[in-house]
Amino acid sequence: MNNSENQQAKAIRSIVIVGGGTAGWLAANHLAKQLKPTEANGIKITLVESPNIPTIGVGEGTVPMMRTSLQYLGISETEFIKDCEVTFKQGIKFVDWLHNPEKTKANGGGNHYHHIFDYPLINEFEGLTAYWLKNLAGNETSFVDAVAFQGKVCDAGLAPKDITMPEFQGQTNYAYHLDAAKFSKLLCKHATQTMGVDHVLAEVTKVELAETGDIKSIHTDTQGEINADFFVDCTGFNALLLGKTLGVKFIDKSDVLFADSALAIQVPYEHPEQDIPSFTLSTAKQAGWIWDIGLTNRRGTGYVYSSKHSSDDKAEQVLRNYLGKSADKLDVRKIDMNIGYRETFWHKNCAAIGLSQGFVEPLEATGLLVFDATAKMLASQFPANREHMDIVAKNFNVRVNSSWEKVIEFIKLHYFLSKRDDSQFWLDNRDPDTCPQSLLDRLQLWKHQLPSAYDFASGFEIFNLENYLYVLYGMQFHTDLSAMAYRYTESDKAVDFFKQINQHGLSLTEQLPNHRELINKIHRFG
Ligand code: FAD
Repeated sequence: MNNSENQQAKAIRSIVIVGGGTAGWLAANHLAKQLKPTEANGIKITLVESPNIPTIGVGEGTVPMMRTSLQYLGISETEFIKDCEVTFKQGIKFVDWLHNPEKTKANGGGNHYHHIFDYPLINEFEGLTAYWLKNLAGNETSFVDAVAFQGKVCDAGLAPKDITMPEFQGQTNYAYHLDAAKFSKLLCKHATQTMGVDHVLAEVTKVELAETGDIKSIHTDTQGEINADFFVDCTGFNALLLGKTLGVKFIDKSDVLFADSALAIQVPYEHPEQDIPSFTLSTAKQAGWIWDIGLTNRRGTGYVYSSKHSSDDKAEQVLRNYLGKSADKLDVRKIDMNIGYRETFWHKNCAAIGLSQGFVEPLEATGLLVFDATAKMLASQFPANREHMDIVAKNFNVRVNSSWEKVIEFIKLHYFLSKRDDSQFWLDNRDPDTCPQSLLDRLQLWKHQLPSAYDFASGFEIFNLENYLYVLYGMQFHTDLSAMAYRYTESDKAVDFFKQINQHGLSLTEQLPNHRELINKIHRFG
């Protein structure tokens, strides 16, 4: 066999994705977009999903990258909004994260901040953050309102755009809230009807290995044996291929992020035209936090908590107290979460995308973000033959590992900066031994100089300067710039600039429509 025949023999033509949750269908769409499966080119992509094992069914918050992905995959925004109970998300509002609510009440102060998606206007005015720290935006002006407009838009219950704007464009930066089960269905329809992906409903009962240690085939309960050159493990927390079959270890991170359990309740609106916040609401509680997401037809809510710091019964009581009468007769669903990630994400001829790859609590909606990003990377880097696979896998593993570490660091920041002392959960979270050294180093650096783009130089960080600024200063992190005061001498100019931002924010709130009103219009006229 000559070299070209040898390469041909090892060519990767068939791919089987096991699992039909959002991760599986995102992987199917991204792979099909890049590899363009047809009979003519011999590329075949098949998604096998069990009709008996349910998907996780939660995962309702996204980040703006989802907008880019939908557009890239050729999915219409209007169809997506209509099919998946979608609403717009302009960020996350964190409530009671800084202090115990009792303390806030006693002080008469507020205890919330927005982590918005619009970039702060720090590139337009160098040192803007420093002038905000000098109180030049006005004593009561939060960081987010001083440097951007979107906080005002969120507070006013407005949409990020109006009906005349083209799909995927907004006057502010936005992502979506969605119904996860309906989103999987839409991705399935798109992959099978327009991208050439085959769909098989069957449960994998056995995975067979070749002598090389690669996966040779899967055996199913109703469709017999299915062979493939490459396998994608999207079996959720089950991790059937990468974890159970290939034995890739799980690195537990619950010593850093303690929340390992969730209770979810779907709450109907009291009346169908109720206002819908255009942000996720995250309210801190004694052993974790509650998410509250408004879709078109209901709210998705849940309490994410640490089982070491709260019993399930107590957690349910906390969630029901938060929801009040609206949840009186509603069922609650318990979800156990594995916190951490795999030692490697691509091993032999198998890559994991989704909960099989890793998971941390959904505080910043990182699930779909990481799975979408890694599915896109898998597809774009996908090798044409087996010979070139191990080096591609090595690169993939380095990048994905770094993404998870950075996500964990950013989530931990929210807890580490809190001054809450009403439970052991919050005290334990401030123990430096539970904090990644890289985060401790950054915080040490930012005590005396402003966070800067140079601190995020890798170019592959999931969360960047703007995200850190909103959380750091939303949580009243103190940067002491007194030794550098000589650098910040443009106070008058800064005051003018803050005024302009404020005025622009106010005029934007006069232009944008009510959030529910826009969603209704898209359903009617879109
Ligand atoms: P699953 O949905 O569990 O799907 C697994 C699939 O594998 C199913 O189709 C199942 O049938 C199939 N399967 C399993 N075993 C077999 C077998 N033997 N044979 C055949 N098929 C099999 N993400 C966000 O981005 N934003 C959020 O706000 C958010 N909130 C979350 C809240 C909670 C409490 C949790 C736990 C997660 C949250 N996530 C969030 C993460 C989000 O749910 C996941 O990113 C997403 O749903 C992907 O799940 P998945 O497809 O990997 O797994």
